[in-house]
Amino acid sequence: MTNSRPVVGVYPGSFDPVTRGHEDVARRTLRVCDRLVVAVAESSSQSKHHLFDVPERLEIMREVFADEPRIECVSFSGLLVDFARTTGARFIVRGLRAVADFEYEFQMAQMNRELYDGVETIFLVPDLGYSFLSASLVREVAALGGDVSSFVSPPVLERLRRHLS
Ligand code: ADP
Repeated sequence: MTNSRPVVGVYPGSFDPVTRGHEDVARRTLRVCDRLVVAVAESSSQSKHHLFDVPERLEIMREVFADEPRIECVSFSGLLVDFARTTGARFIVRGLRAVADFEYEFQMAQMNRELYDGVETIFLVPDLGYSFLSASLVREVAALGGDVSSFVSPPVLERLRRHLS
């Protein structure tokens, strides 16, 4: 980037597990920032339907993004805007798959702006092939013995196999 201060983005989510759709969004985001913090929300592990706990999700994500030194994977608790502020992030990135994502994402972005106006939310669309893909669908299909190898990277596949066997 032309600015002397590095542009940092935060990509928050549950990432349970990280899918090729998440990967696509994260790698595309690197086109508009110097460094990307992919952040697992601790609160998401309180959901009854989670598969991997947060440390395991992070371990998997660090393997998946091992080739990309500009991506850092961490977890956070509390408000996303507080995390973004302390990280010094210029923006929060979220993925938009279909119209169905829009309303929730729009509300979240407006609320986050009310809470803290110092960070922008940007939305990226994934490659067409991933626009139907969700982590919950991957969990469901994998639990039923379906082949999810085209939806997740090998480290994820390996953990899914171990976890579900
Ligand atoms: P959350 O519980 O916050 O929705 P997820 O891990 O499911 O967490 O998703 C994190 C972000 O990644 C969200 O912005 C979501 O819309 C986006 N995302 C998830 N799957 C895809 C995909 N296949 N393509 C593009 N964006 C996606």
